[in-house]
Amino acid sequence: MARPRQCRRVGSMPESNYFKPRDIPLSMLEEVILKVDEFEAIRLADLEGLYQEQAAEKMSVSRQTFGRIIESAHKKVAEALAKGKALKIEGGEFALASTRKFRCDDCRHSWDLPYGTGRPVNCPSCESGNIQRAERRLGRGQGRCCGGPQQKSSP
Ligand SMILES: [Zn+2]
Repeated sequence: MARPRQCRRVGSMPESNYFKPRDIPLSMLEEVILKVDEFEAIRLADLEGLYQEQAAEKMSVSRQTFGRIIESAHKKVAEALAKGKALKIEGGEFALASTRKFRCDDCRHSWDLPYGTGRPVNCPSCESGNIQRAERRLGRGQGRCCGGPQQKSSP
């Protein structure tokens, strides 16, 4: 456990970070804390259906590490479901993947895309091809973890 912890890459934050059983009053409720990197592991492996190798690569961790993250994540979710505990998603060692910002010159719509998704051809709002790269924006949490050089994910 003396090894420095590696920065785990997370593509996006959960849309909701608190899940609670309906009939249990807050005062009696126990919480399970699922870390954001554990949530990401579940999202990649269980929702997107990636193999562990691919999911590990997306998170910039080894397969062994990914295996440990997802095992812990499954256990926590199972515990919350089986014992009627609340599930809170927070914390963990991670950095959000950086995004690129694009802007449409026709309708002024702007949007973010993660690296590795390819350059868009049309504006998602008005379908104009008159789009350009706007300023680069880093996701929240950037650099908080390992502070190392940015790793662009390439296909
Ligand atoms: Zn547009």
